[in-house]
Amino acid sequence: MTHTRGETRVGIGYDSHRFVPGSGVLLGGVTIPAAVALTGHSDADAVCHAVTDALLGAAALGDIGALFPDTDPANKGRDSVAMLREAVKRLGGAGWAPANVDVTVVCEQPKIGPHRDAIRSSLGAAVGLGADAISIKGKTNEGMGWIGRGEGLAVVAVATVIRK
Ligand code: MG
Repeated sequence: MTHTRGETRVGIGYDSHRFVPGSGVLLGGVTIPAAVALTGHSDADAVCHAVTDALLGAAALGDIGALFPDTDPANKGRDSVAMLREAVKRLGGAGWAPANVDVTVVCEQPKIGPHRDAIRSSLGAAVGLGADAISIKGKTNEGMGWIGRGEGLAVVAVATVIRK
């Protein structure tokens, strides 16, 4: 298979995690103060998980579940920023470099806006991009369904990768 330098590809990632009583919501490596926390097998950082899947998807390198199975005890409570860094390393090994990431977080609470720039910096450092190539947007679900009831949050991410 031949590759063209500068070829670009796009990937999409989705994740959701449940809220439990707690003292902060971890998103993109940043803990947002809240009366809840996200729960999951790893540290439940849904932004990191969705971005990891978007990057892996863009490079057609599988998904986060294949890379870090939740059946593996080593992944229990695992640092999701480290998983994201590992995925970026895999991309590099396959000849791809992230170019930009765009993320939408859907939840009623906490508000994402005040933490936008902190998350952009944190994610950028993990992905190897400047914060100017990382976008984070917060949306409510207008009170509808499980997100509206505050049972958890959902994240959609899109990433572009470029052939090195
Ligand atoms: Mg997840």
